[in-house]
Amino acid sequence: MKVLKFGGTSVGSPQRMKEVCDLITDGQQKIVVLSAMSGTTNSLVEIADYIKKKNPEAANNVINKLSSLYVQHVDNLYEDKSHAEKIHTYLQGIFAHLHNLTTEDHTPSLEKEILAQGELMSTNMVTALLQERGVKVKLIGALHFMRTDANGEPDQSYIKKHLKDILAQHPDYDIYITQGFICLNHEGHTDNLQRGGSDYTACLIGAALVAQEIQIWTDIDGMHNNDPRFVQGTQPVRQLNFEEAAELAYFGAKILHPTCIQPARYAGVPVRLLNTMDPSAPGTLIDNHMQWGTIKAVAAKDGITAIKIVSSRMLLATGFLRKVFEIFEVHKTPIDMVTTSEVGLTLTIDNNSRLALIVEELKKYGTVEVDTDMCIVCVVGDLRWENVGYESRISEALAQIPIRMISYGGSDHNISFLIRATDKEATLKALSAKLFQAKA
Ligand code: ASP
Ligand code: MG
Repeated sequence: MKVLKFGGTSVGSPQRMKEVCDLITDGQQKIVVLSAMSGTTNSLVEIADYIKKKNPEAANNVINKLSSLYVQHVDNLYEDKSHAEKIHTYLQGIFAHLHNLTTEDHTPSLEKEILAQGELMSTNMVTALLQERGVKVKLIGALHFMRTDANGEPDQSYIKKHLKDILAQHPDYDIYITQGFICLNHEGHTDNLQRGGSDYTACLIGAALVAQEIQIWTDIDGMHNNDPRFVQGTQPVRQLNFEEAAELAYFGAKILHPTCIQPARYAGVPVRLLNTMDPSAPGTLIDNHMQWGTIKAVAAKDGITAIKIVSSRMLLATGFLRKVFEIFEVHKTPIDMVTTSEVGLTLTIDNNSRLALIVEELKKYGTVEVDTDMCIVCVVGDLRWENVGYESRISEALAQIPIRMISYGGSDHNISFLIRATDKEATLKALSAKLFQAKA
């Protein structure tokens, strides 16, 4: 069994929904995970924000706009009146429910209930379209099997048991449709796997069933070797090891949700990134295989702050790093990069919400300097230390760029540079020219 996930743009219009239906009806049994139509989750966030600001009128306006958009979509989606009627009635129910919620007090749980409606709508619309075409399709509600535990992490054994039970109860279907993103929390209330979480849903399902393959369908042909918004002539990367893909996803390659591939990796299920606009293109395969001797790609992460702590107390002292890291832990602020010297260290964070408090506490240990508006550029590939030459080629490419920090040796797959955000484009271009365009 394969698991296929289609993102918001892939189901973003009636035409695109029809194309997805063409693509998935090849007679092979599969599970299809869908996002909300593109723009819908943002509108739902807007509705929740107005409710929070106690402005039900503005919330109702957004709901009305969204509802007339969906009426139009449905009018253009079905050939057959009875299917259109059925879905019109279903969507009217959803929008009436949303209107009812606008007068309630805002709570996190109300917000999650609102955000869940986008995936419920898209999956019902596509299921009805497949039914109209005579496909043996079953809509299985994610809220019947996708669940998080008390720590907010996916409850893998619950997911596995319930999903398998549901499939066993409904064995004779070609296509099972389900919602990405939404789940129940450990108390049984509607929750979600964070924005962009549909990829995660697909990987959790693929891992639970030890699927043959998980396919993430978007509108670009796989992961590229550099950021196409800044560099011309980037190329799709055909294959990535799970760890390389995780680094790239984390450090800026927007195509994939950063934590989502972990379950697939543990279950050993390959993940393939494919393009709905060009379905026969090979895309990017992510699996356990490691192609030694190649640099695969470059990615950049913005919004980074570097914090330097210089302290003579660090010299020959034990426990200094622990004390520093503890401050970040208490403030629930993850650290990305770290470099040390005998008398100081610099580390980076990507969330400044507790910065002032952190700096205040760090001052107990030494002089503190902060650089904001920085950017991490990370080069991913076979970067085992025994390989000679790669580090020097990379640093040669960056000869003209002021580098604030270098992190190398933390894994076999990555070398990261901290630079000014204003130097990002020049850095990406220089690396591209040296690593991917020059003939070695
Ligand atoms: N619809 C959700 C979002 O926009 C989840 C997803 O698309 O992956 O974040
Ligand atoms: Mg996405």
